[in-house]
Amino acid sequence: MENKKLRIGHLYPELLNLYGDTGNILTLKNRLIWRNMEAEVEQIEKDSVIDFKNLDIVFLGGGSDREQLMVFNCLEKQKEELLEYVEAGGVFIAVCGGYQLLGKSYPIDGQKTKGLGILDMETEANDKRLIGNVVIRSDLLGEDELIVGFENHAGRTYLGHCEAFGTVLTGNGNNGEDMTCGAVYKNLLGTYLHGPLFPKNPVLADYFLQKALERKYGETTLVTLQDKAEQEAHNYAVKRFLNQ
Ligand code: GLN
Repeated sequence: MENKKLRIGHLYPELLNLYGDTGNILTLKNRLIWRNMEAEVEQIEKDSVIDFKNLDIVFLGGGSDREQLMVFNCLEKQKEELLEYVEAGGVFIAVCGGYQLLGKSYPIDGQKTKGLGILDMETEANDKRLIGNVVIRSDLLGEDELIVGFENHAGRTYLGHCEAFGTVLTGNGNNGEDMTCGAVYKNLLGTYLHGPLFPKNPVLADYFLQKALERKYGETTLVTLQDKAEQEAHNYAVKRFLNQ
């Protein structure tokens, strides 16, 4: 057993957990174990205090407006610690509803509501939901590696001074207009991609594992995993959705 271990904080799994989001946690955990490293997952429940200093990866999934508001109220109390964690290069992955509430504003039942303001972006209400499969290209992984996922959201997100996670090749992404999908700031990833994201895109999972390991242990080379089934599933999904 290599003497490396990551602590993964799964925020509010009982509230935000749509379309297989928990699969992201399993993938991160297993990809560490398969490389003889350790993974400890802490499920953080509503109203408990998050010890960001003790976490290497934080994950926040997607959910309905009602659950988003409950989560916002919890996180607002620890906004400073969260910001400190992100500024210090902590890996933070937020999907859909979790992503929206990190911006300056987002809609609750159609009403503009204050967000945490960690990402410079706003999400506006819309009656028509954007639902379907998505394929994007992202600078995080380069030209040759596509990323695939599933989206289901009513909110339309418009980025300010923050970088997009990727460019939409098929699907809608942030707003269905400007071809952007998600946002990246340091090692914080905000994305609309459920599906779940990491099992469908193992290369992206490794990108963030590497970031977390390097922050904790310095330069790290990840052992290549065979990933035959994972890559076949990924390639099949990309091909199918690009041609739909
Ligand atoms: N309530 C948000 C929306 O519909 C987020 C939904 C989600 O997390 N899938 O825009």
